[in-house]
Amino acid sequence: MPLQANQPYKPAFFEVAQIIDGKAVAAEVRRNVRAEVAVWTSEGHAQPYLAVILVGENPASASYVRGKIRASQDAGIAGDTLTFGANITEQELLDVVRDLGQQPNVDGILVQLPLPDHIRADRIIAELNPDKDVDGLHVVNAGRLATGQVGFIPCTPSGVVELLRHSEIETRGRRVVIIGRSNLVGRPLASLLMHKGYDATVTVCHSRTRNLSEVCREADILVAAIGRAHFVSADMIKPGAAVIDVGINRIEDNSRPSGYRLTGDVDYEAVKEIAGWITPVPGGVGPMTIAMLLQNTLLAAKRRTS
Ligand code: NAP
Repeated sequence: MPLQANQPYKPAFFEVAQIIDGKAVAAEVRRNVRAEVAVWTSEGHAQPYLAVILVGENPASASYVRGKIRASQDAGIAGDTLTFGANITEQELLDVVRDLGQQPNVDGILVQLPLPDHIRADRIIAELNPDKDVDGLHVVNAGRLATGQVGFIPCTPSGVVELLRHSEIETRGRRVVIIGRSNLVGRPLASLLMHKGYDATVTVCHSRTRNLSEVCREADILVAAIGRAHFVSADMIKPGAAVIDVGINRIEDNSRPSGYRLTGDVDYEAVKEIAGWITPVPGGVGPMTIAMLLQNTLLAAKRRTS
């Protein structure tokens, strides 16, 4: 039923926000992928194969890549990490990416970002075979998404949409405000939510947006993809809105052996008192990104075979 003017989005019986459990939703997506891979291979097809390129010594990147390979193997997808020292040249990396694009056994290729400063990430991504670009970052896939054609959708935006769908949060006709306009999150998410079927009315904000709090308070669904801890405060939230926190920020925490903990872009404790739904960090959007990567890799294998 359409919302009436001044009608709170939040159903009256919620006292605090419903927590959207990204881990549980991601586990379900991964189980489904595993079951589909099992059927696929039982039909005589080769295991889908994902190649992940890791350059340099960034510990966070290495840990993300380990997680992606583990999750792939768990889903029955064959995966390898191709590791290169930070001194690899741009040309050498271009050759690697081009070669993987031509190898018949490789279904998906992922280049873990960021790359060292001397390598232009946009040049490397431009060299990917768009039909194996399971991260959806190649300009061909970005163009397909922007024009509503079939391609690969970047994993984090499709994870956000899957969380909304799973939580039965209606997007049709709803006002969505996204803070952040990156090619990785904000822009593709805006395109996706405008597609027929999702039918949201989307506003994208960035560092030059005026009256940001006011714009955010109009959102039925607010997505934060900024990269600044606790940036979104309770006074930016319309009561009952769904708040999706994409941010992953390290903040100092001397009580932890690592000396830090992860937190999102949203002031979770304060916002959950006002929002209708909220994603935690960790355990919200993050696990979905990996789950959607597996889904894209299976899709790549199926599309290349058909
Ligand atoms: P990004 O490329 O740095 O983009 C950040 C965006 O935030 C930019 O559009 C920037 O505006 C905007 N912004 C910065 N300060 C602002 C302000 N004061 N007011 C309004 N907008 C502001 O970052 P990203 O790659 O999109 O990532 C965003 C966050 O999501 C990071 O914490 C990242 O770690 C996290 N992330 C998480 C996942 C996941 O799996 N959960 C995946 C990807 C990214 P301008 O364009 O004007 O500079």
